Amino acid sequence: MLLQFPTDPAFGLHLKALHSSYLDWITMRRFAELVNAAIFLSVILQLSPALLISSIPKQLLPNFTSTGPWKVFQNFTGAHAGDILDGLGNMKKYFQQFGYIPQGYSDFTDEFDDALEAAIKTYQRNFNLKPTGLLDEATIEQMAKPRCGNADIVNSSTSMSSGKTASIFHSVGHYSFFPGQQRWPSDRWNLTYAFYRQESIPDTAKAVFSRAFQRWAAVTLLTFSETTSTATADIKIGFFVGDHNDGEPFDGVLGTLAHAFSPTAGMLHLDGDEEWVIEGDVTTSTISTAVDLESVVVHEIGHVLGLGHSSVENSIMFPTISSRMRKVDLAADDIQGIQVLYGSNPNYTGISSTPTTTDPEREANDCGFRLYGWVPTALLAVGLGVLLP
Ligand SMILES: [Zn+2]
Ligand SMILES: [Zn+2]
Repeated sequence: MLLQFPTDPAFGLHLKALHSSYLDWITMRRFAELVNAAIFLSVILQLSPALLISSIPKQLLPNFTSTGPWKVFQNFTGAHAGDILDGLGNMKKYFQQFGYIPQGYSDFTDEFDDALEAAIKTYQRNFNLKPTGLLDEATIEQMAKPRCGNADIVNSSTSMSSGKTASIFHSVGHYSFFPGQQRWPSDRWNLTYAFYRQESIPDTAKAVFSRAFQRWAAVTLLTFSETTSTATADIKIGFFVGDHNDGEPFDGVLGTLAHAFSPTAGMLHLDGDEEWVIEGDVTTSTISTAVDLESVVVHEIGHVLGLGHSSVENSIMFPTISSRMRKVDLAADDIQGIQVLYGSNPNYTGISSTPTTTDPEREANDCGFRLYGWVPTALLAVGLGVLLP
């Protein structure tokens, strides 16, 4: 079955697969009644799928092809310098949004100019593509993928591959930092996090965040614990829709999925319009726009801790992730980067780098974290509503 009811009915999630009147009904019933309803609905679905089909949004139906805001770039395949193409100015805005065209640039005409060509070349280097400056298929395909809203290039300082020089003798780490190598100060190793409108976040979703934090704690001296107040927590997490007053509006389904601010701002925001999957195997989802919450959260925590984007495709800090993809394990590149900032966890037995900025007298404590055992039970895709601070 496509959907299964969550075990906690108290959360205020918008269950998109359900008819609105049914949704109202849910909010007024207690847990036992909800379980009964789940059983009842599952029977109905098995007996007569057509009965409810009209109330299921089209994006939840199998074989629905999502477009995403950047699929339109496919119209520009094969374009090159000198061309004038309807809508090409939007591609310049895309490149400016992610740092490839300077903030001062404002010539958003539809002409394929030098600024666009230079942006494409830098983008291609960052994403391991041939730096031709042409809008070939591979470049367009990469650009159209859902991604993190954080820029790849911050304040004109390139952080990904395009800003690095490989050596014949030494492999170059591709991890990057924010300008100035911002990090949490050495007297703040035990970081707390809290959710805006925490009562609307189901326990199953909170468990996803907990697991994501532990992935970073497992390789560093940092610890993370949930608290109840965003006013006092170091890291403040929320789901928002559209413009949410930080100058980085979200853009609906796919496109940008989330963003986070450098230390010590501690802000981690997720796009409430996404079909976040918090339980089950996202890779087999029939929802073409399904996005794995844990994969995105692990990435955004990397930003909260001070990491920028990486050109290593299998790294967590690579900027894009396809829908229905799961990527939650830190790659060597991620681990090396974070350990430069915070040192390594002595209990961690995998790849480590030599810490350069940690206090050698600091002892690791509370580092023996265990990842939760996680048994996928059923696909639960939820779109979280607007949660304002
Ligand atoms: Zn990012
Ligand atoms: Zn935001």
